[in-house]
Amino acid sequence: MTTKSTSLESDEDVNLIFKLAYYPDNHLRKRTELVTDFTHVPILVDHMFKTMVFRDGIGLAANQCKLTQRMFVMRTDKIRRAFVNPELGIPEDAKLVEGDESCLSFPGLVVKVARYNKVLVVAQDVNGEKTYTPLDGLEAICAQHEIEHLDGKTFIDHLGRMKRLIAERTVKKVLKDPECQKQRKRL
Ligand SMILES: [Zn+2]
Repeated sequence: MTTKSTSLESDEDVNLIFKLAYYPDNHLRKRTELVTDFTHVPILVDHMFKTMVFRDGIGLAANQCKLTQRMFVMRTDKIRRAFVNPELGIPEDAKLVEGDESCLSFPGLVVKVARYNKVLVVAQDVNGEKTYTPLDGLEAICAQHEIEHLDGKTFIDHLGRMKRLIAERTVKKVLKDPECQKQRKRL
């Protein structure tokens, strides 16, 4: 997921960032694999954080960085955390709420998606320790968006056929001419 503005960090960070998978890159359609060997996880996660900050995102899934591991990073005002092998729990009193989302892999697009207002993320940290993280609001929405990525789905899967076609056309246009991104297409 992204915030509304974009900014670039200092030049020295450029070498530490991953190239992003943009729609229709195959990595976005592949289900990621459970992490069993944590040897390289801390360094990969560090680079994912740098990539997310550089692109001004609040969440980033590993397959958006063309990696195959089931893990994502999140950075908001409230939390800065990596989730490895995450699974979603939905509390009984959670409600579906509609909200606007954007995604680093789909530049120029804002999509209305219904998500639960609270979730529990059961995961592991970068060292393999089990974690239980209750989230609400923006962080809950972000976790659902990123875990969907890890399952090989994206937010345009929530759209009907016509809107999907418009979304695909918009992203293609923006990737060809980034100037088009200034006017975001809302679906
Ligand atoms: Zn996304």
